[in-house]
Amino acid sequence: MAEFICPDCGKKMYHENETTLEIEKGVHKKFCSKKPGDTQSYMHKT
Ligand SMILES: [Zn+2]
Repeated sequence: MAEFICPDCGKKMYHENETTLEIEKGVHKKFCSKKPGDTQSYMHKT
């Protein structure tokens, strides 16, 4: 079981297949809100 915690938003992802996790990481990075929880407002857009 491979797992990954997004350094930007702290979301934890895991998958039994490491290759699939790599793909999911790539997808997440595109859509990541880069917001750790909702305690902090976004820094700067664009
Ligand atoms: Zn993220």
